[in-house]
Formats: sequence, C-alpha cells, structure tokens
Amino acid sequence: MSCTQFTKDFTQQESIPQAGIDKALEIMASGKLHRYNTAPGEKGEAALLEEEFAQYMGKKYCLSCASCGSSMYLALKSSGVKPGDKVLCNAFTLAPVPGAIENSGAEIVLVDITDDYTIDLDDLDKKAKSSDVHWLLLSHMRGHIANMDRIMEICNTRGLTLIEDCAHTMGAYWDQKKSGSFGKVGCFSTQTYKHMNSGEGGLLVTDDPEVIARAIILSGSYMLYERHTSRPDMSVFESLKTMVPNYSCRMDNLRAALLRPQLADLDTQCRRWNERYDRLALGLKKIPGLFLPDRDPREAYVGSSIQFSLNGKSEAQILEFLSKCKEQGVELKWFGNKEPVGFTSAYESWKYLGQLPDLTNTRRILAVMCDMRIPLTFTLEDCDTILNIIEQTVKTILI
Ligand SMILES: *Cc1c(COP(=O)(O)O)cnc(C)c1O
Repeated sequence: MSCTQFTKDFTQQESIPQAGIDKALEIMASGKLHRYNTAPGEKGEAALLEEEFAQYMGKKYCLSCASCGSSMYLALKSSGVKPGDKVLCNAFTLAPVPGAIENSGAEIVLVDITDDYTIDLDDLDKKAKSSDVHWLLLSHMRGHIANMDRIMEICNTRGLTLIEDCAHTMGAYWDQKKSGSFGKVGCFSTQTYKHMNSGEGGLLVTDDPEVIARAIILSGSYMLYERHTSRPDMSVFESLKTMVPNYSCRMDNLRAALLRPQLADLDTQCRRWNERYDRLALGLKKIPGLFLPDRDPREAYVGSSIQFSLNGKSEAQILEFLSKCKEQGVELKWFGNKEPVGFTSAYESWKYLGQLPDLTNTRRILAVMCDMRIPLTFTLEDCDTILNIIEQTVKTILI
C-alpha cells in the first residue's frame, strides 16, 4: 500500500476578492443591506449585479434571488406552470430540483439518463409525446451538458417549454452558446460550492418581459419593481401587479457585493477549474477499472467537479475503495449509497414525490458513480497526488 497522504480540504474555497470584502464592509457600515434601501436614482448592488449578469449571459433580463432552488421555483411559476401540470426532469440531479417542482404544485416526470451522465433523449422524446406534458426542467447536473441541438429539436417538436438548471454550468457553453441561454429561463446558483460564492444565492435570466416581470413580483418586490434596472417597461407590470403573489426570496446588497467582483473573474476561474479537471481526467482515464465517459467536443464544460464510474464493481468493492481513499485523505462521494448523504442524492430517496418510476439505466449508472469536488485551492501537483492515491487504491481493491 502506498503511504501517500493527501491533507487538503475538499470543501475549502478561495477567499472572496478584496474588492468584494471592501464593498461588503462599506454596505455594513451604511446599514443599507436591503436591495430596495436606495436613494432615488441610486442603483444598489443587487440591481448592478443583475445588469452585469444579464450582459454576461447575453440575455435581456436577470433577477437575483435567495437561492437557485428559489429561482427555479420562480422560473416555473412565472413561465406558467400550474398545480397538477407535469414537468419532465432528468433523474440524475440534486434535491433542490425536484423540490422546486414539488413547491410549484406540479407533478415531476423523471427521465432516464445515459452512460455519459446526461438525459436520455429517446426517453425524453417518448415522455414528451404525451399530450399533457409541456415543461422540461433540464438539470445540467455536475456540469454534464446533453446534446442541446437535439434537446431544442425535441422541445420545438413536442411543444415543451425549457427551463435550465445551470448550478454547475455557469460559464459553460454548448457549441459556442452559453449554457442557460437555450431555455425560456436559465437558473444559476451562487451557493458556496458553485462557480461564484455568496454563501447562498440564485440568479435567473430570460428574454421574456412578462416572465421577468412576474418573477420580480414573485420574488417579493413590495411594489418597488421600478428600482430594478434589469426589467421591461413599467407598463408590463401594470396588469400583473395585483395578480401575482409575493414569495419573498430576494437577494440582498451584501451578497450581491460579494458576487460582482467574482463575476468579473468568472471566465478566468473557469479556465483554472479546467486546468485541474483536465489533469485529473487525463490521469483517471489511464487507470484500469475506471470509466470516464467521453465528452462531446461541442461541450465547453467547467470542471468544478469530476465523476467516474467503477463499472462492474460490487457495492462491497466500491465501499472498500471509498474508505481506503478516505483514509489517505481523498474524499469521494458515491451516488450509489442506499441512504442519501451529504450532497449526493439518488432519485429513489425522493419518496415524498410518491410513486417513482423504475429507471433501470439511472439506477445502474448511479450505483457505480463516484464524484469528487475540485476546489480551486488545489494545485496541479495536488491533482497528481490525488491521482496517485486513486491509482494505488484501485490496484489493491479491484483486482
Ligand atoms: C446546488 C444545486 C442546485 C441548487 O442550488 P441552491 O442555490 O443550493 O438552491 C440546483 N441544481 C444543482 C444540480 C445543484 O448542484
């Protein structure tokens, strides 16, 4: 057994850029943390962040929210999902996604996945044929982007409205077009483990003036929507203002202040993630017994985490592999766990949804899928140490 030991923390983020810290201190000293606590004509940090993120995404409008979960909920509600409607969703995703659908009163229709960890397009098309299905909440889970050309074709042919969950694809592209700019609405997370970090937070983008107006009112604008600068003409709000409830899930100026300098650095950070990801992927692909699906060349991903499969290995072998890696400081997660733990979740654990379909491919694929965070506090040499540990451990366990 190799005695290599890895000692860095898999949940250690980089610090917030100094400009964000300075601005946050200034806001705290002023006491004006609430986004609507602005002087006439003054733009608060939340409004500025929205303008800048809309511009980054090449979208007309952006709304900042309390979380990505709440932004998905607002996206569903403001694009017209009603209680009892059916919403398609890939079964490999994170708990806040089915949670947002449940919160909207809609019924989730889970779609199978394929060996490259993306949505099964044949199963999607089959389920979208049903005349009472009009929505797709597509989760680009762990940054894996499905063939968006085919997704758009299916949406157009079957009359589906697409909403994208881009919690792991902020800064990513499909065929030169930004992830989150394909659907009616794109939803992003600024929770600590995503590509920008404000602790909690969400961003929603759209080109649709009615959708953004509804989302702004739903987010809890207290009839102060005029203070949003990423919004359509005030007349759009007129017919909506008394017909749309207030769900109070706004972002505040403090978090927006932390995010604005991070947005300016986002593309650089994405390149840094990919240096680490590509180093790890290249090494992992060489290890016998590990399987990493090939990625479509049109997918410009952001490798903030990495997944691989231990195909053909038993639960006992996988558990032994994980525990030996952990002993040496390499923290891997496993989607095959019978019990939902930490940030992994298998669809079978969402029992509150009622009767769940038997998605044999999703179950087979998740049963052997491992998952590792790639914090930017790791160096390329750290990646080599991790590879070394994984390689040695696979050898001793999986013969
Ligand atoms: C983190 C995450 C979300 C939700 O983000 P929150 O901001 O924590 O609500 C949604 N989808 C995926 C795939 C995620 O990983």
